[in-house]
Amino acid sequence: MDFRLTPRQVQLKADARALTDFIAGYENQCEEENGLPADAHAKVRDAVLDAGLQAVNMPAEWGGAGLTIAEQVTVQEELGRLTGALWDMVWRPANALRFCTPEQRERFLVPVIKGERRDCYAVTERGAGSDPQNLTTTATRNDRGWVLNGEKWFVTVGDHADFMIVLAAAGPDRAPTLFLVDKDTPGIEMTRVPRFMHTFVYEHPEFTFTDVQVGEDAVLGGIGEGYDITRSWFTEERLMIAARTIGAAERALELSRDWAVEREQFGAPISSYQLIQGMLADCAVDIAVNRAYTHQVAWEIDHSSAEDRKTLHAKAAIAKLSASEASGRVIDRCLQIHGGRGYDRAYAVERLYRELRVDRIWEGTSEIQRLIIANELIKRGSGVLDLPVA
Ligand SMILES: Cc1cc2nc3c(=O)[nH]c(=O)nc-3n(C[C@H](O)[C@H](O)[C@H](O)COP(=O)(O)OP(=O)(O)OC[C@H]3O[C@@H](n4cnc5c(N)ncnc54)[C@H](O)[C@@H]3O)c2cc1C
Repeated sequence: MDFRLTPRQVQLKADARALTDFIAGYENQCEEENGLPADAHAKVRDAVLDAGLQAVNMPAEWGGAGLTIAEQVTVQEELGRLTGALWDMVWRPANALRFCTPEQRERFLVPVIKGERRDCYAVTERGAGSDPQNLTTTATRNDRGWVLNGEKWFVTVGDHADFMIVLAAAGPDRAPTLFLVDKDTPGIEMTRVPRFMHTFVYEHPEFTFTDVQVGEDAVLGGIGEGYDITRSWFTEERLMIAARTIGAAERALELSRDWAVEREQFGAPISSYQLIQGMLADCAVDIAVNRAYTHQVAWEIDHSSAEDRKTLHAKAAIAKLSASEASGRVIDRCLQIHGGRGYDRAYAVERLYRELRVDRIWEGTSEIQRLIIANELIKRGSGVLDLPVA
């Protein structure tokens, strides 16, 4: 067994940390202004391209950084340190875009990889959250292609993106299908931009689609493949959430350790009190254990065959569930160690406290991850617990 980072991972970690440190310069502005102005977006975009960390999940031949899953985890851990979800400025196109035809790739994916366009993924609806089968958005065929009608909620980056990947029930069979839709297509309206608990550099708006005409060539993948494509995206996406929450938790622990050593009460540093030491130790345990497992699963995905797919889906669910819940515990303790300052938005721990909460909700709630894990145990036994064998 070799648990060491490869020389390439060491380099990527350093590059990602340098980029993270640069982007962190915008954290306070993002918090105060609930977003960033266009010039800040342009500077970060240039920095991402200079670092070569654009589209880390896309092949180098298309202009992406072409990283393995283990390498992506290394990068996402560093980016996860950022507050204001500034990690999302380091764009990683939806993996679903790998299903583009060559023409779609030139029109949509390649410009996203270059940082010239931006995608967003619209699956959730008012009545279709954990259960996307409840979908009411429809796609009806006509002589010019497809006509979309319906609504989508919580569309992350929906304000900034210029095209959407929309899940709709297509045709009389209600076949779940993804469509590539330019956001300025007539009939698309951004109806509400809710204010959420976290400060996020982009918004998560709601959209309505009224007789939105798209061409036959707007179908991504194939008719009826919408769930399968979305699901195949979840395994990697959930692992990246695990990685980012671990990075966030590590930053919070570093800040809290430093604060505990520096802050004196009752005539001594608070780090000398065992109740504080217990919290620091519990944070270290939560981070160390989850980091190791997340890297294990990343390695397994990189070395997997097609028949491992279902078990790896469950392993990614374990990683997401465990890391997001552990980081929630970590940030709660870290806020406590900071005392009243931990409640001040000028402190990173306060922002992380609000921001880490959603990781237990999006890309499948903690309850849904538990269902996936239990389902795997019931169907295929406890192999999900096994270490990979050489
Ligand atoms: C900030 C933010 C950004 C988002 N970005 C996107 C995006 O870009 N694109 C997109 O499509 N969606 C996005 N989402 C939507 C997100 O994926 C959903 O919120 C999530 O899947 C849960 O769906 P829901 O909110 O409808 O909750 P519901 O599904 O209504 O769940 C409510 C509660 O019931 C529980 N529950 C549901 N079913 C079961 C069950 N079978 N057993 C046990 N418990 C159950 C849930 O775990 C939860 O606790 C985003 C959400 C948020 C908050």
